[in-house]
Amino acid sequence: MALLPILTAPDPRLKKKSLPVETVDDGVRRLMDDMLETMYDAPGIGLAAPQVGVLKRIIVLDIDREDTKTGPLFMANPEIVEASDEDVSYEEGCLSVPDHYSDVVRPATVTVRYLDRDGLLQELACDGLLATCVQHEIDHLDGVLFIDHISALKRNMILRKLLKARKEQERDEAERGPAKAKAKDPEPAI
Ligand code: ZN
Repeated sequence: MALLPILTAPDPRLKKKSLPVETVDDGVRRLMDDMLETMYDAPGIGLAAPQVGVLKRIIVLDIDREDTKTGPLFMANPEIVEASDEDVSYEEGCLSVPDHYSDVVRPATVTVRYLDRDGLLQELACDGLLATCVQHEIDHLDGVLFIDHISALKRNMILRKLLKARKEQERDEAERGPAKAKAKDPEPAI
């Protein structure tokens, strides 16, 4: 397995629509495994292929906590086939929007249909953090970030700060060479 570089906003590749996977073959499984390792290392609880620059409809998730022992989930071509009328607000973060969090309102429960790591068709009813995470990751496959769900004012402020941080990092690296270790994010991001 290998760690893959994670793209950060405003990278134009994060705004592209990803293409469906034709078959879940060894190449897709290798990508899924690399994505999972990259997600754990970040650390995060969800990762979509476009976040590592691959425009394929693939996501990985692991929201393992005391109350929800789902283990890692691998999904190719995930689609929401049912969503509740009831909405819920959750403070979301994203590995591609580092250090920024915002409340996003989404359906509280969803059913997702997808191909698993063996290429078998599955359906999974999701609630709580898993429902939020699945919707956040599927958004990535359509070029949508959580900041696209908030006000333009707040979104532009976050994007300006990300650009500034990137420029500062590039300047520091030009002066001192690449940073040896990145600071670990205290909150898991999706
Ligand atoms: Zn994300």
